[in-house]
Amino acid sequence: MVNTQSNVSSYRGRFAPSPTGPLHFGSLVAAIGSYLDAKFNKGEWLVRIEDLDPPRTVAGASDDILTTLEKLGMEWDGEVIFQSQRNEAYQATLSCLSQTAMVYPCTCSRKEIADASIAGIDGLIYPGTCRDKVSHVGRPAALRLITQQQPIQFTDTLRGAVCQCLERDVGDFVLRRADGVYAYQLAVVVDDAAQNITHVVRGTDLLDSTPRQIYLQQLLGYTTPRYMHLPVVTNAQGEKLSKQTLAAPIDLSNAISQMIAALQFLGQSPPKVLQQETLATFWQWAIENWRVDKIP
Ligand code: GLU
Ligand code: ZN
Repeated sequence: MVNTQSNVSSYRGRFAPSPTGPLHFGSLVAAIGSYLDAKFNKGEWLVRIEDLDPPRTVAGASDDILTTLEKLGMEWDGEVIFQSQRNEAYQATLSCLSQTAMVYPCTCSRKEIADASIAGIDGLIYPGTCRDKVSHVGRPAALRLITQQQPIQFTDTLRGAVCQCLERDVGDFVLRRADGVYAYQLAVVVDDAAQNITHVVRGTDLLDSTPRQIYLQQLLGYTTPRYMHLPVVTNAQGEKLSKQTLAAPIDLSNAISQMIAALQFLGQSPPKVLQQETLATFWQWAIENWRVDKIP
């Protein structure tokens, strides 16, 4: 058997769902992919709830996701971390970064930014209006990070070499919004470092965010984990499955067939007989037979 997995002795992976609704087939694929890669490599698998943004967090969704993972037989290592309880850590990191003059307040409104910006690979490229002085003294300010021209390069386990010039492709990005909410890019970097994550396995919709995260890791002197971006499940309209696109929750009365479908989506070839098996047998087969080189 061709085995393309790295032979790592200390592997720490994670699944980091946003609790915007129950686990659906798309998030199940990310959960299973990160879980199997960790277990195949004899590693640990952590779960972190990314409930940073209060308006997007749905009451009960975190419990729902955690209970579903348990019922599916996916045991995590250590305590679950909730980003909503980590503001102190994010603030400490932001204060540290601010000492380098790489962070500046921005008081531009959405409309001002929309009128002055061109589209980048992930939203509008902020034109740097407030780099030297804020556009509106006295308005609540977001905090942005200065980006640079030097390319950021990394090798994704599935996608190969990825290169991005942050200043040109993304622009100075937000670390804390004007309403005080910390940005995903900052929180994920702080938490991956705090949890000593060595391997990040997640959906390819986050591939474009990775250079921003590596840039932050470099500024902060953190180690960059290894990244593997999995294919993303889409519906018939080609939209990513999500709460917004009304993805159906995982049906626990029919768990194994959905997990088999998730394995198939990831290019694995589970035998038909697994359908009749217990969860323990399912996982034993899935872990032993995990093949990264078969993921489409
Ligand atoms: N919370 C993010 C999401 O559910 C995932 C973040 C990550 O894996 O880095 O899309
Ligand atoms: Zn501004």
